[in-house]
Amino acid sequence: MKVARFHAPGDIRLEEVPEPVARPGEVKIRVRNCSTCGTDVKIYRFGHHHIRPPRVMGHEIAGEIVELGEGVTGWSPGDRVQVIAAIPCGRCEECRRGHLTVCPNQESMGYHYDGGFAQYMVVPAKVLAVDGLNRIPDGVGFAEASLAEPLACVLNGQELARVGEGDDVVVVGSGPIGCLHVRLARSRGAARVFLADLNAERLTMAADLVRPDAAICSGETDLVDEVLKLTGGRGADVVITAAASGAAQRQALQMAARQGRISFFGGLPKDDPIIACDSNLVHYRELTIVGANGSSPAHNARALRLIADGAVPVADLITHRLGLDEVMDAIDVVARGAAIKVTIEP
Ligand SMILES: [Zn+2]
Ligand SMILES: [Zn+2]
Repeated sequence: MKVARFHAPGDIRLEEVPEPVARPGEVKIRVRNCSTCGTDVKIYRFGHHHIRPPRVMGHEIAGEIVELGEGVTGWSPGDRVQVIAAIPCGRCEECRRGHLTVCPNQESMGYHYDGGFAQYMVVPAKVLAVDGLNRIPDGVGFAEASLAEPLACVLNGQELARVGEGDDVVVVGSGPIGCLHVRLARSRGAARVFLADLNAERLTMAADLVRPDAAICSGETDLVDEVLKLTGGRGADVVITAAASGAAQRQALQMAARQGRISFFGGLPKDDPIIACDSNLVHYRELTIVGANGSSPAHNARALRLIADGAVPVADLITHRLGLDEVMDAIDVVARGAAIKVTIEP
């Protein structure tokens, strides 16, 4: 079978390898869609300390079961499934407390295990043990189902930031994650959702699809001023930074309303993670700053439901469908920000 494997930074190879076999407790799937995201670009450029090469990349996975390992029950060949990306251990103190997204023993598809840029893939027993294999609801295609994983992460972020009825929400960063944030905030009853990006072209492309109440090009106007203007000086109830930008995080504090919530959804570069924070803004305005680290298996199941119910449509966000041999083109398109969502169909 064909796979796309990471060997070293700058070195991803399309290779022919034997099909994997489902061992006891595992499930083998025919991958139908594996979507790409900014993380794949990061891995391509810098590698990752959890990846021991060669490793099949790809973590936004949907496919069809072709073989069950010994002892697997409740599934049959032909079942359409979506696979979680982050695998909590299910046994540690955090997992027992229900904090599955911050399990210190977390492993990931495409990092510790071969991922979905392949024609066939084995779902590890650990994924099944934490209910990480989800049945794709009728009416949801494989490509849409592959977006359940990023949507699950967005759902985790908005739960932590308590996005709800009547909120004015600012989303900074108009990539696929920003688009999902806009759509999910609307489905959770936000009053108005504003979308901002430094890059005018990318912002226009995203705004045409997700129709925010205002699209703010922060490369051309002062984002904080603009948000204060739009909210009558009050600021936004929730500010979500879906960009690896310390400047955006600092601005988020300045444009949050009293009792506002700020989600540092996107992490900062490892070598530059320190920002200046006016702690008195947090104190007097009773701000809440939250992080976000992936998603739990339950978030993935609920994300699939949101897609199936039409609460968060995702089909139109998939702007590019490419074959496995075009995986380098896919990574290039994502790196240039020239697409919303690029999916690989191996
Ligand atoms: Zn991803
Ligand atoms: Zn754990």
